[in-house]
Amino acid sequence: VRGIEILRNPKLNKGHAFTLKERQLMGIHGLLPAAVVTQDQQMKRVLKNFEERPTDVDKYTYLMSLSDRNEKLFYRCLTQYTEKMMPIVYTPTVGKACQQYGVLYRKPRGLFLSIHDAGHLYDMICNWPEENVEAVVATDGERILGLGDLGAYGMGIPVGKLALYTALGGIPPEHTLPVMLDVGTNNKKLQEDPLYIGNRNPRVTGKQYDDFIDEFMEALIKRYGIDTLIQFEDFANNNAFRFLEKYRDTYCMFNDDIQGTASVAAAGIIASMRITGKRLSENTYLFQGAGEANIGIAHLISLAMEDEGVSHEEAISRIWMVDSKGLLVKDRPAGGITGHKELFCKAHKPIDTLGEAVKEIKPSAIIGAAAVPHAFTEEIVRDMAKFNDRPIIFALSNPTSMAECTAEEAYQWTDGRCVFASGSPFDPVTINGKTLIPGQGNNAYIFPGVALAVISCKIKHIDEPMFLKASQTLSGLVTEQNLDEGRVYPPLSDIREVSVRIATALAEYAYSTGAASAYPEPENKEEFIRNYLYHTEYESFIPETWSWPEHCPQSY
Ligand code: NAP
Ligand code: MN
Repeated sequence: VRGIEILRNPKLNKGHAFTLKERQLMGIHGLLPAAVVTQDQQMKRVLKNFEERPTDVDKYTYLMSLSDRNEKLFYRCLTQYTEKMMPIVYTPTVGKACQQYGVLYRKPRGLFLSIHDAGHLYDMICNWPEENVEAVVATDGERILGLGDLGAYGMGIPVGKLALYTALGGIPPEHTLPVMLDVGTNNKKLQEDPLYIGNRNPRVTGKQYDDFIDEFMEALIKRYGIDTLIQFEDFANNNAFRFLEKYRDTYCMFNDDIQGTASVAAAGIIASMRITGKRLSENTYLFQGAGEANIGIAHLISLAMEDEGVSHEEAISRIWMVDSKGLLVKDRPAGGITGHKELFCKAHKPIDTLGEAVKEIKPSAIIGAAAVPHAFTEEIVRDMAKFNDRPIIFALSNPTSMAECTAEEAYQWTDGRCVFASGSPFDPVTINGKTLIPGQGNNAYIFPGVALAVISCKIKHIDEPMFLKASQTLSGLVTEQNLDEGRVYPPLSDIREVSVRIATALAEYAYSTGAASAYPEPENKEEFIRNYLYHTEYESFIPETWSWPEHCPQSY
């Protein structure tokens, strides 16, 4: 490529950072103003622009257009200013952006596969311009964050997640592919929105839907190979569990809402044990909600207890769950206990409310993920403080408005004694003269590191123990000082290092079980992984040149 096309290509463009020599050699001299700047100076300009945008959605649009212009600069900024920019390209702002996707829409991103294209998905996947896709994040847009059915507007989620694959997991962007599986939407508002970008028919379900997803999976690996990592994202509850069961043993896939959430929440619980001084199996856990998030967490916590040496039955007996119809108990008159909930059903009299369940069971940990705001009432939290010296209180529902209680409430009502974490960020709280920093159980601690291991080591199959390994590694990175401040996670600014450490632990594990297929097996896994990482520094356009000796035989 020469000339103006270089400036138009976000993978090549480095804006004012082209040197005079590069400008002259590449035929772009005069197409840029005279000043030559460094990438560091460009970053300062980006930050200034970013901070001057009045709203978070404006900031989102600004960053997305930056990635359309200059990919390396976008990723360099996202990597460097993670704490500021991650909440913009990812939850919570990405949720708002999805709701307005039709207005914000500028340039297509990712692959849109429509139910009306069934039978032709392979050909469409072949239209994707990259030869070497290693990771796909796919959604059908039916349960976007806590916002419900956003149809094709949900594409913002795979795009955002994959931006974090690169910024936090070091996966080169050309190896990633966001996919929208557009089977329609049941969202009336979108069906009638003239700016809606997707199919307006009601969601296609049943066999036609299942066949479509099957065809997608087959077509994807036909083009990109059996070890292509496929992350399922923001499918509605029933489909999320069904597809995980259906594909987990035959594809290299996972569901982030179930397994990624489980891993990050379990990491927080494991780290909490260093504060409470207990073993995991010495606790009683009460979950508010028995959906994708909490069922996943409950499974992984029980695996972690088994890892401490207790039996499966003993581990399960420690876990109690409440859903919309009350405590999960055998032969519950209200019914509603199907599938994954059965395992956690107890022989106990029915209890209708969380408050009564807390009084009866006296748990040491309560974990909320039911999207019921204020579910952790003052009475519940005070009871927790009565039964426990250091109660564990995780309010995981997103976004902030859905949280079971705020950090301030949890600390206030327990006199600063609780171990608190949440799904959405809360500010530090000062209580009795001590400042406590609530942990954020953000999935971004986990999935970029998992993806990094899977892709760099060509892991063919992602099993459940890998998510436990990821939890244990993450909790091991929490320092004594973090714990002293009340944090059960490392600071967000450390996530890139967290990803490398998780990936290294998973690499060790995957080679030991034979799941990794990148050969020869690297002796030093960490070094191998670090060498794989994408770099955000610009490359030189000047080819390397050298000269020959004065009197060599070829010249006269
Ligand atoms: P989901 O699969 O739809 O599950 C929701 C669960 O909540 C269901 O079991 C439902 O009961 C239960 N529920 C509803 N109303 C209730 C009530 N009044 N009392 C008790 N339980 C009630 O949703 P999900 O994917 O698990 O997500 C739930 C929440 O977790 C969302 O706010 C999401 O943002 C959050 N989340 C947080 C993280 C994180 O912090 N990293 C990650 C993922 C999800 P039934 O089964 O009876 O319908
Ligand atoms: Mn999700």
